Amino acid sequence: MSEPNVDVVVVGAGPAGSAAALALARAGCSVVLLERGPYPGAKNMYGGVVYGRVLDDVLPRWWEEVPVQRWVTRRSTMVLTPTQALTVDFRSEAWGAAPYNGMTVYRSDFDGWLAGHAVAAGAQLVTSTVATGLLRDAAGRVVGVKTDRPDGDLRCKVVIACDGVNSFLAKEAGLLPRADAHHHTLGVKEVLALPREVIDDRFGLRGDEGLDIEMLGCTRGIPGGGFLYTNGDTVSVGAVLQLPGLAASKVRPEEIIADIKAHPAIAPYLRGATLKEYSAHLIPEGGYDAMPVLHHDGLLLAGDAAGMTLAAGIWLEGVNFALGSGLAAGRAAARAVAAGDTTRAGLASYRRDLESTFVLRDHKRLRGAPGLVLSDRVQQRYPGLIADFVESVFGVTNPAPKPGFVRLLRQSMRRHGVKMRHLVADGIRGGRVFR
Ligand SMILES: Cc1cc2nc3c(=O)[nH]c(=O)nc-3n(C[C@H](O)[C@H](O)[C@H](O)COP(=O)(O)OP(=O)(O)OC[C@H]3O[C@@H](n4cnc5c(N)ncnc54)[C@H](O)[C@@H]3O)c2cc1C
Repeated sequence: MSEPNVDVVVVGAGPAGSAAALALARAGCSVVLLERGPYPGAKNMYGGVVYGRVLDDVLPRWWEEVPVQRWVTRRSTMVLTPTQALTVDFRSEAWGAAPYNGMTVYRSDFDGWLAGHAVAAGAQLVTSTVATGLLRDAAGRVVGVKTDRPDGDLRCKVVIACDGVNSFLAKEAGLLPRADAHHHTLGVKEVLALPREVIDDRFGLRGDEGLDIEMLGCTRGIPGGGFLYTNGDTVSVGAVLQLPGLAASKVRPEEIIADIKAHPAIAPYLRGATLKEYSAHLIPEGGYDAMPVLHHDGLLLAGDAAGMTLAAGIWLEGVNFALGSGLAAGRAAARAVAAGDTTRAGLASYRRDLESTFVLRDHKRLRGAPGLVLSDRVQQRYPGLIADFVESVFGVTNPAPKPGFVRLLRQSMRRHGVKMRHLVADGIRGGRVFR
């Protein structure tokens, strides 16, 4: 059998792949990082916020060089009906100073920046190259990848598949079960241009402060939610929509974004904005219970290829989980290469490492969140119930005397077909999920 060309091939230069390549190169392994796009990040889209704490150990003081748009100092959650909006709004001065909490970044900048660190550490980045399949030995072990280049087979001791949602390589290895539409949402986004000072004024921001808004009740009953994030001189507005609900609704995703942009609580922020970009991408939202097996003889999965986006209501985080799992995969592969055992058993420390970090601990603890957040009542009844209740509490009924809150709540519940036992059951379920 031919000798390996390198120790490890990492497929995909998204956050997971570049983090894996960085860890491997630092551990002294030879590593090729394959990317189908002409440069890292060229084809990648997401909402817009990265939580970088996971980088602290790897790139000390990363915030001094990361290509940030704005530091998120303000986070809001909005509950919407077509005519009402309730906003819980939080801002913190601490989030506007090092070591920062979250930042808006463009993927074309962030992915290139991180891949640059992997290259500086010694990884070989090969762009405009698609991994088209796995190479296996007679025993079925993964021993490399086929690519779309002439003579493009690359032999190695370990392949790390970081090729994103619906990973072609994970499917070929038999690790990823048939995609279940219930476990996926479609993310759609528009990037809208506005002058920087206008964004500052309208969103109450100064300098490089930024805002992140998550929305519930803006998707015409299709399970999902909306978002709005501020960049330097653009605003990203979008929605995530569960696939079966979207298909059944016959609504086009652009119509949902149009609804959000036209909502009376959102439209004033966006007046005069011009469309720069529209994009769409799948998100694996099944959580812990829908994750594939993470390792195989000669193969590891990380990031969205392993279904690691955490979608739990106020949290839509995938990049930090991709970074965390990519780093862990790189370290596990480096240990296996050094020990001369890249079998499934030799790579098993990957899963154990993930179980002891936020990557699988958060997913495990919040495993019930996707089901609860995307449930019928949370999506279709509670936004209206909450908005009507708050409207009746804030409304002044003089000359009629003020009614008690319990009566108002019961009225709103009746109007939205919610019984007390539903509220209690969902409250208990929520308490268990988010305990
Ligand atoms: C609308 C939307 C909003 C989101 N919002 C957020 C957010 O605000 N914050 C957050 O943290 N997460 C967010 N996410 C999730 C986040 O984008 C993902 O979790 C994250 O990008 C996963 O990183 P990854 O490296 O695993 O995969 P990806 O970022 O998908 O990278 C995969 C890479 O592999 C390359 N590739 C694929 N196949 C091949 C192949 N065969 N050969 C060579 N290269 C290949 C691709 O070109 C790409 O560069 C959002 C996602 C969407 C769709």
